[in-house]
Amino acid sequence: MNDTQKEPVNFIQKIIDDDNASGKWDNRVHTRFPPEPNGYLHIGHAKSICLNFGIAEKNGGKCNLRFDDTNPVKEEDEYVQSIIKDVKWLGFDWEDRLFYASDYFDQMYEFAIQLVQDGKAYVCDLSGDEIRNTRGNLTEPGKESPHINRSIEENLDLFVRMKNGEFANGEKVLRAKIDMSHPNLNMRDPVIYRILHASHHRTGDKWCIYPMYDWAHGLEDSIEKITHSICTLEFEDHRPLYDWYLEQLGVYHPQQIEFARLNLNFTIMSKRKLKQLVDENHVDGWDDPRMPSISGLRRRGYTPESIRNFAEDLGVTKRDSIIDVIRLENALREDLNKRAPRVMGVLDPLKVVITNYPEGKTEMLEAINNPEDNSAGKRDIPFSQELYIEQSDFMEDPPKKFFRLGPGREVRLRYAYFITCQEVIKDENGNIVELQCTYDPKTRGGSAPDGRKVKGTLHWVSSPHAVDAEIRLYDRLFLNENPDEDGEFLKNLNPDSCKTFSNSKCEPSLANPENLTYQFERNGYFIKDEKESINGKLVFNRAVSLRDSWKKFLKQVGK
Ligand code: ATP
Ligand code: MG
Repeated sequence: MNDTQKEPVNFIQKIIDDDNASGKWDNRVHTRFPPEPNGYLHIGHAKSICLNFGIAEKNGGKCNLRFDDTNPVKEEDEYVQSIIKDVKWLGFDWEDRLFYASDYFDQMYEFAIQLVQDGKAYVCDLSGDEIRNTRGNLTEPGKESPHINRSIEENLDLFVRMKNGEFANGEKVLRAKIDMSHPNLNMRDPVIYRILHASHHRTGDKWCIYPMYDWAHGLEDSIEKITHSICTLEFEDHRPLYDWYLEQLGVYHPQQIEFARLNLNFTIMSKRKLKQLVDENHVDGWDDPRMPSISGLRRRGYTPESIRNFAEDLGVTKRDSIIDVIRLENALREDLNKRAPRVMGVLDPLKVVITNYPEGKTEMLEAINNPEDNSAGKRDIPFSQELYIEQSDFMEDPPKKFFRLGPGREVRLRYAYFITCQEVIKDENGNIVELQCTYDPKTRGGSAPDGRKVKGTLHWVSSPHAVDAEIRLYDRLFLNENPDEDGEFLKNLNPDSCKTFSNSKCEPSLANPENLTYQFERNGYFIKDEKESINGKLVFNRAVSLRDSWKKFLKQVGK
């Protein structure tokens, strides 16, 4: 391979290459993915997971899964379990390195004692509001706490008593003694520990003081001997504090590296707001197929490979940008086009009777499972006198460009025969309920020996063999490209984000669908909804259409 053929190197890989060249970490690469278990993971987290595990994998290193469980009020075991499931599903393996920040609470406390003993931290009695109000701003320095000059002995005594539960929530905090006029606000005597009489999902009532993020995170990285601590750009301003803590303690000191987080248009990507959608029942749980959560994408029919390819394609940058959600959808189309078995399903059925086909006869016709993959083989599908086609594939008075079925017109039924519409049957209200057609027995397999051509090819299902199903088509959850533009994302919810066909008909091979995404010919990619398919009911979710039709949709709704 010459130089021009090399993969473009992202800036984090460049740092690792330089570190390896200088021997900085003895050629080790050890990263971590550190979610807070206060919600389900979303596609933004997937980006971070792929980056951290991917970088480790590419460099023969390791990546830990670590729960940043330092805030007992918002964290739950349900979230821990969902995160474990999602990271595994994406295809990553942390081996025996599943860690919890709460496992380090004792060590973190000892480190805090050390800081107090070194005169670099003090107990402060100001309230949260008072601390905020005396912090100053970008142009003005902050004010020193009236308690900054407490003696080391007094600080030690008070801190131990904080830990022992002698004070109420908010009565005292432990703060780092740095510099109240530091140009970086994060360095103005930040809080290290706060009092919180709350039960933790792992440590129970053992603790009533809990470490703040900046204190905890660097120590977690240090304890785990992380080499490259990769996080999103908003932590750039926190890096001096990350470094300060580790330097003062004189402990192992990883390098924090920031990258631009993933933003997608038409998508909300904040756990807090996603939780609001769930809590207020705007969606059917965290795994609603319209949610950008990993569990939602999975239920929608996304594959782990498509998400990994999407993340890889985006690369890593230092600049914030908004990615078009079409790129995510296209990554899925690209993956499924190669792999998804083709089947036929009619969303909105219209009955067709072939008047010259023998009544009661069934014949099996050969269908190709995947034209993109010869190894996928073939299957037989039944054909009979009574069939279903899509309502939208028939027009009584079709315009010129409509190449599907109309009175007197001939079309091809996929893998079957040419049929011609002879008569349209209506009910007493004038609704079309049945088409009477004739077929040409010489066109078996879909071509005419006399060389005559038809323009339209329709999918179909044999009525006596059909499997009943409910089919759900999803659209974007939000109508607005930037759903939270005006801070009111709920107002931008798309009222038509789920369209249900309750009377759909599928070919018999779908009676017991496997847990994979199928291509329903001409209709898109579908997966069985395991949650809704109960009591004999079969529900399919559309993962994505075959082509992008968003522009057409916007026109229809007058946007
Ligand atoms: P949210 O903002 O959705 O609440 P968070 O950052 O608070 O997310 P964490 O559980 O702290 O959630 O995130 C775990 C990791 O995932 C962090 O390293 C964080 O930087 C990363 N991450 C979160 N959102 C994104 C995103 N949109 N793009 C890339 N990485 C992200
Ligand atoms: Mg966070």
